[in-house]
Amino acid sequence: MIQINASRTINENHLIENRRKVKSIHNVFLTCSCGSQRVEPTGMVYTTYPVLYEYICMECGKVETSRVSYPYLDYEYEDEDDESTKETDRS
Ligand SMILES: [Zn+2]
Repeated sequence: MIQINASRTINENHLIENRRKVKSIHNVFLTCSCGSQRVEPTGMVYTTYPVLYEYICMECGKVETSRVSYPYLDYEYEDEDDESTKETDRS
C-alpha cells in the first residue's frame, strides 16, 4: 500500500521516507567538445573507487570516463531561494 504525503519508515525506525515539493527539475546530460549532444554511456563501469562511468560520443567516437552517472535529474526545491541543489555530492 502506498501512503501519500506521509512520512513513513522502511523496515526499521532509522531510515524515514520523506517528501519535498520541487519547483523545477533539470535533466543534466553530456555534450561533446565536437558540439554533439549524442553522448551515450558505453555500458562500461570501472569498479574503481570512486566508480567511473564510460561515455562515447556517437558523432566523433571520443570516449571519456566520469565519476557521475549521466543523465541525472537536478532538483530545485520550492522552499529554497534560487539555489540549485544537487541530490548527491558530485565533483
Ligand atoms: Zn564528439
